[in-house]
Amino acid sequence: MDVTLVEMADHVLPTMLDKNMAKTVERELVDNGVRIILGERVEEILGVDGQVNGIKTNTKREINSDFIVLGTGVKPNSEIARDAGVELGSANAIKVDEYMKTNIPDVFAAGDCATARNYITNKDMYLPLGTTANKQGTVAGENAAGGNAKFRGIAGSAITKVFDLFIGKTGLTKEDALRNGFDPVEEVIEDITRARYYPNNKPIWIKIVADRKSGRVLGSQIVGGEGVKERIDLIALALLLKADVRDLASYDACYVPPASPVWEPVNIAASQAAKRM
Ligand SMILES: Cc1cc2nc3c(=O)[nH]c(=O)nc-3n(C[C@H](O)[C@H](O)[C@H](O)COP(=O)(O)OP(=O)(O)OC[C@H]3O[C@@H](n4cnc5c(N)ncnc54)[C@H](O)[C@@H]3O)c2cc1C
Repeated sequence: MDVTLVEMADHVLPTMLDKNMAKTVERELVDNGVRIILGERVEEILGVDGQVNGIKTNTKREINSDFIVLGTGVKPNSEIARDAGVELGSANAIKVDEYMKTNIPDVFAAGDCATARNYITNKDMYLPLGTTANKQGTVAGENAAGGNAKFRGIAGSAITKVFDLFIGKTGLTKEDALRNGFDPVEEVIEDITRARYYPNNKPIWIKIVADRKSGRVLGSQIVGGEGVKERIDLIALALLLKADVRDLASYDACYVPPASPVWEPVNIAASQAAKRM
């Protein structure tokens, strides 16, 4: 099957990855036979006799297609709430506080229709994911029944898989960090996921972003063949605890040949980032 990816952005997955990390994903796509057309916009879906048979881009390029998958993003369906006087926030999602309260007494909101507080920037954001929806729903439900539960917020953690590569991120990219008034340093390392002599090693690339002044870890992007989710989750905890990048360089990681090199790649990436401070 021929697969073509057409995307307006210069690089794939621009919301998750910085450009140099996205290049690794592009390579994986191309190596698996995906043709990538960047910087073009799909303007028309073509068809004959009611059947889709291709697309036309803004450069008038026509690509034949048996089926089309459109990634259009998500918008909160918040009109009913707005019309009822509920205050909206980021991306027109329902603005909630840490108790999942709206501005209307006894009205709570949670999940894909609601904002979430980013615990690094301390600003509201809209990132509709199942993890957030479940945690927020639990808090809203408990509080609607008279409780006093708090939602601690999100780091923007997300993960996906493209062929044999997991692609994960948490916290801020360098660009996000600059936009939010930090003075970021970043470091990327390439490593392997098992002891060097152990079979079926997979590559892994880890980027750590930290604040030059405070040393605080601000974010991470990880692309690799295995062990990505666990490492992203660990760094999401470091972000919640406002850890210093030197903490991330020296925490006591386990070593077992089938699951890690003796030097844990997160320790290495963080110690390289710390050298840039
Ligand atoms: C294909 C896909 C894959 C995903 N994969 C992941 C993943 O891997 N990881 C992750 O974290 N997230 C993932 N998500 C996102 C995740 O599914 C959502 O963030 C989550 O389901 C949101 O939960 P929710 O309860 O806010 O909304 P929903 O799950 O959308 O539930 C809303 C419910 O409200 C009902 N409803 C809507 N309007 C009305 C109305 N007027 N009256 C009564 N009922 C109404 C709907 O029918 C629906 O049942 C994925 C989403 C999709 C679509």
